[in-house]
Amino acid sequence: MTLGERWTKGTSMRVRVDADACHGHQSCAIAAPEVFGADDYGNAVVLIEGDIPTELEAKVRRAEGNCPERAITIEG
Ligand code: SF4
Repeated sequence: MTLGERWTKGTSMRVRVDADACHGHQSCAIAAPEVFGADDYGNAVVLIEGDIPTELEAKVRRAEGNCPERAITIEG
């Protein structure tokens, strides 16, 4: 990928939640409701399969930074 392609295609961010570490605070869903939801037990789930849209990346980084259990991992 050239630098120009990277600019036009974004950063291909992906995100995942460690289900064992998650304690269900839902602060991630408050920070990025388009990306994080809850399962039947209240633990976080990622709602978007594949790459996070570029316009939501800042929200995902905020959610990751505010997760008290460090359960969110950003890739890319
Ligand atoms: S903030 Fe972290 S620990 Fe809390 S629900 Fe979200 S991923 Fe889980």
